[in-house]
Amino acid sequence: NASITPSPDEGIHEEEVWIEEAKAKPIQVVLANGDEHSFELDAAALEKILLQDHVKDLNVVVVSVAGAFRKGKSFLLDFMLRYMHSQSDSWIGGDDEPLTGFTWRGGCERETTGIQIWSEVFVIDKPDGSKVAVLLVDTQGAFDSQSTIKDCATVFALSTMTSSMQVYNLTQNIQEDDLQHLQLFTEYGRLAMEEIYLKPFQSLMFLIRDWSYPYEHHYGLEGGNAFLDKRLQVKCNQHEELQNVRKHIHSCFSNIDCFLLPHPGLKVATNPYFDGRLRDIDGDFKRELTKLVPLLLAPERLVVKEIGGNKVTCRDLLEYFKAYIKIYQG
Ligand code: GDP
Ligand code: MG
Repeated sequence: NASITPSPDEGIHEEEVWIEEAKAKPIQVVLANGDEHSFELDAAALEKILLQDHVKDLNVVVVSVAGAFRKGKSFLLDFMLRYMHSQSDSWIGGDDEPLTGFTWRGGCERETTGIQIWSEVFVIDKPDGSKVAVLLVDTQGAFDSQSTIKDCATVFALSTMTSSMQVYNLTQNIQEDDLQHLQLFTEYGRLAMEEIYLKPFQSLMFLIRDWSYPYEHHYGLEGGNAFLDKRLQVKCNQHEELQNVRKHIHSCFSNIDCFLLPHPGLKVATNPYFDGRLRDIDGDFKRELTKLVPLLLAPERLVVKEIGGNKVTCRDLLEYFKAYIKIYQG
C-alpha cells in the first residue's frame, strides 16, 4: 500500500532529528535580552537537564567557566568533557582527534550573553563512596559598553551563585578592570542572596591564558597562587577603591586560586582550519592542561554545591535558578 508507506526521505529525516535530540550539546538556559536588558530563564530546558531520573536527587557539583567571548573557554570546556567521558589517565585523547563539544558546532557560536549548560550530567563516584552529579557550565558576555557590563554582571552573578567552582577565564594578566568586574558581579550576587554568611560563594579559580612571564611566576597552580597573592595584596599606600576591591573579593569566596596557562601555539590562536587536534597544540600547554583539568574535575576534588550551608541536589538547583532569576527580573 504505497499511499501510507513513508517515503525513504521522510524516514531518514526522522532518524536525523532523533539523533540530533539524543546527542549531548550545550543548552542555553539563561539568555540576556540585549535591547531590553532583561533576562530569561528557559525553565523547560533546565528541567530537562536537572530532572532526569538518574540525577535529580543526587547532590550536584557545578563547575562553571566564565568570561568574555573568544578567550578559549569552549576550547577548555571541550577538554573538560574529554576528561569526564574518559576518567582515565589517557583522557586527553589522541594526536589527531578533532575536539568536539562546546566548540565547532553549528549554532553554538552565536555570541549571546548568557549561560549554557552541557546537556549530559555526569554521575561520579567520589572516593568517600558518595555519588554526585556534575554539571558543566559556560557563562559568557561582552564587556564593551556600560549597558553590556551590567548585563554581564547579572549573568555572572547568577552563575557564581549557582556554581560550586567558578573559573574566571582571563587572558595574559589580571587587569584592574577584571577585578572591578568581579567586584560588581559578586556584589550583585551578594545583594541578591541577602545572606549574613560571611562567604556567600564557594571556589573561585582565576585562569590566566597566554601567560608570558613564566620566569617571574611559573605556569600552573603554585606560580598562579604566588602571582595572585601579589595581585590581591592590600597595600596601605593603595588607593582606597583598589583596597576595597581586594577586600571584597577575599570576603566573598571560601577558596580563591589562580592557574597560569601558557600560550597554546600559533595554530590554535590563528589557523582558521585548526580543529582542536593535540598535534597542533604546544607541548607546554598540553602539559599544564593535564594538570589543570584534574584539579577542577578529579573525583576527590569535586565539591558539592552548598547554599546557606546546605548541600544542593539537581532538583534543588532548578528551584534556586528560578528564584534567583526572579530577583533580577524584578
Ligand atoms: P570562547 O568564545 O571563550 O568560548 O573561545 P573559544 O574556545 O571559541 O576560542 C576562541 C579562539 O581562541 C579559537 O580560535 C581557539 O582556537 C583560540 N584559543 C583557545 N584557547 C586559547 C588560548 O589559551 N590562547 C589563545 N591565544 N587562543 C586560544
Ligand atoms: Mg564559547
